[in-house]
Amino acid sequence: MKINCLSCGHKVDLADAYDDYEGQVKCFACGAILEIKTQEGNVSAVKFVKVVPRPSVEQVFERGRG
Ligand SMILES: [Zn+2]
Repeated sequence: MKINCLSCGHKVDLADAYDDYEGQVKCFACGAILEIKTQEGNVSAVKFVKVVPRPSVEQVFERGRG
């Protein structure tokens, strides 16, 4: 089963375990959190929650220097 990421449009591939699922999944392409609801392999609802940005290398260095 695939769902379209509401943030970047990427088709997020979901395993069979998500055929009957209600909760959050993460788009690995852009890091967006999507709240989905599926029933018998069909998506009945997709909601965009937020984007979790990857920490940048620069920020990690800033913190380590102190
Ligand atoms: Zn995405």
